[in-house]
Amino acid sequence: MSEKIAFPEKGTSASEVLDVMRAARDQDADWRGGKTFSLVYNAGEELRQFLKDAYTLFFSENGLSPIAFPSLRRFEAEVLSMTASLFHGEEARGNLTSGGTESILMAIKTARDYARAKKNITAPELLLPQSAHPAFEKAAHYFGVKPVHIPLGPDFRADVNAARELVTENTVLIVGSAPGYPHGVIDPIADLAALAMEHDTLCHVDACLGGFLLPFVKKLGYPIPDFDFAVPGVTSISADLHKYGFAARGASIIMYRNMELRNYQYFAYPDWPGGLYGSPTMTGSRPGGAIAAAWAIIKHLGEEGYLRLAKIIMDTTTRFLEGIRNTPGLRILGEPQMSVFAFTSDTINIYELGDAMSARGWHLDRQQMPPALHLMLSPAHEAVADLFVEDLRACTKSLAAGEPAPEGSAAMYGMLGTIPERSTVNDFILEFMNSLY
Ligand SMILES: *Cc1c(COP(=O)(O)O)cnc(C)c1O
Repeated sequence: MSEKIAFPEKGTSASEVLDVMRAARDQDADWRGGKTFSLVYNAGEELRQFLKDAYTLFFSENGLSPIAFPSLRRFEAEVLSMTASLFHGEEARGNLTSGGTESILMAIKTARDYARAKKNITAPELLLPQSAHPAFEKAAHYFGVKPVHIPLGPDFRADVNAARELVTENTVLIVGSAPGYPHGVIDPIADLAALAMEHDTLCHVDACLGGFLLPFVKKLGYPIPDFDFAVPGVTSISADLHKYGFAARGASIIMYRNMELRNYQYFAYPDWPGGLYGSPTMTGSRPGGAIAAAWAIIKHLGEEGYLRLAKIIMDTTTRFLEGIRNTPGLRILGEPQMSVFAFTSDTINIYELGDAMSARGWHLDRQQMPPALHLMLSPAHEAVADLFVEDLRACTKSLAAGEPAPEGSAAMYGMLGTIPERSTVNDFILEFMNSLY
């Protein structure tokens, strides 16, 4: 897609480079306006400026060395300690990572190595709901673990009875999400964790999305079941600071019930001429700014601040959900428990509705199985709730009246959904990635 250009022989002035970069943003998603629904968790300009200040203070520092930078070591240790208390983990130990994917990679690697050491399992299997994040598939792919899928019940939660039939003596980890990305519902964590205990295996809760929102939503009085270390049998949790923790990009947490488990994550190499080497997670060098900003936002907001944001998010969610439910022809999938949800239609083509909304500047994520549109709300969506519902009504009505949808991706999504051979779709994804760079 990009044209071929040579490595620049001469430099360009700083101001000119910055001008080019500013102009390059022209076609980017306008997340500031509240018309996008994932990727950026927008809690407003004031918090963003604060985060930038905190990040910039530690812009050059490297989290790789806790000895050179005791400041960063302290921030990281305190973020972990504060999170352990939020998750009811008396003895819990964890690490900061670059994001949810790295946290999940670590959880799978740890479970694999723990099972190998404790139970001599050499053909490890990972039991995960069909709705679990693809990072688990990626981890299984990287670490030689076989993914085994738990079907979803009609409520889009992992079917525990089905899971019971799928456990084998090679199961090293059972996964549940709190909540899952596609439908925003929380898997039956207590039942999955009990099943894991019954089989003397580990249980991971993927709270990448909900880890820093659900505890506050629960405090506001919403019926949120326990999903953390308060649940017997839960042995690890992933939670993204850079989502509803509202930290700067590049910050997530992987946490274990105790230090013994975490030891199976760690890597040490004593024989390098360059010195003794120890590394807790996947990464080597780590941006100090991300660690510093994570600490700063928790300190700045405190429970009080997170509760205030959680209330805005949940009130806004109610307005969106009501707007969708009251639009004839549209239907929410399942019963979403926080601010993430999907909706579909039994009367119009939902992907065409996505295109019609795109034409009005709304970027809704497309889902499949079943075809649906997906939303993830931040505080910034409070200001656009009415406009969204108004546009959604108008677009739905016009499609229901048989008016053609604007040109978009509906045909492609429709086509990809009907190809029975999934390896063909797999190839399509690879081809797309190849075309990018
Ligand atoms: C975002 C997300 C992840 C992956 O996190 P990244 O930070 O994008 O790597 C994992 N699980 C769930 C439920 C998520 O929403």
